Amino acid sequence: MSETPSETTKPPEIYKCCDNPQITYLAPVNINIDERTIGSVDVWRCAACMKSFCEEKTLGIESITDIVGMPRIENDEKWAVIISKLQKGKDKWKLVKLKQNGMIKIETVDEKVIELKIQDYKIVDDYHSSFLVLDHIHHAVEI
Ligand SMILES: [Zn+2]
Repeated sequence: MSETPSETTKPPEIYKCCDNPQITYLAPVNINIDERTIGSVDVWRCAACMKSFCEEKTLGIESITDIVGMPRIENDEKWAVIISKLQKGKDKWKLVKLKQNGMIKIETVDEKVIELKIQDYKIVDDYHSSFLVLDHIHHAVEI
């Protein structure tokens, strides 16, 4: 337990994704609105089992994640960002885990729970869209 912390980010608490977790920071995916970065998703990966973990960062807001440490993701789920056409600024996006098909419940900014349809790891809805975080490593995504 004497590692030097990395210059920019300190790793979240490690949870056991496999027998010998070696979780390292991979890259950020920046979320832009009108070419301005309003937030980002930090992507971490376990070098042993290659599972990826994501953490949502909204600029100016500290520790907004309600899950402490590394959020758990199941093998049949993928990290995605849901974009709401009904909201503005930092409320426009949310980090989620999507299954390939089915429904997902998300809480909106006004604390209403809505259900959205997932088709092939993508949200199918008139007012919401989504993208997979791992498809945009090292890139900024305009929402
Ligand atoms: Zn692992």
